[in-house]
Amino acid sequence: MKKVPIRSCLICREKSDKRRLFRIVKNKDGEIFFDKTLKANGRGAYVCDSEDCIEKIKNTNKLDKAFEIEISKDVKEKIYDQICEFKNIKEGNVHGNNKSS
Ligand SMILES: [Zn+2]
Repeated sequence: MKKVPIRSCLICREKSDKRRLFRIVKNKDGEIFFDKTLKANGRGAYVCDSEDCIEKIKNTNKLDKAFEIEISKDVKEKIYDQICEFKNIKEGNVHGNNKSS
């Protein structure tokens, strides 16, 4: 049987298939960034695709708590922007309908 990795959203705690969540990573140098590949080394935190949750990444200190360090507002805004951009690209695919196999 195939095992699907399940993770919960950092904000709302909703459990979901890892691949449907957005991954944020803290690497060994203490850098925090959005990991769209889901493969970057480091400790990961996940957020679901609810706009509310994504917004709370930059508006609350939940991410700071998850990684147990203080994260600057600049970094949080950058992550927020990157997630929004990535989300738009994903959702934008609905129109194209050009399957590349
Ligand atoms: Zn959520």
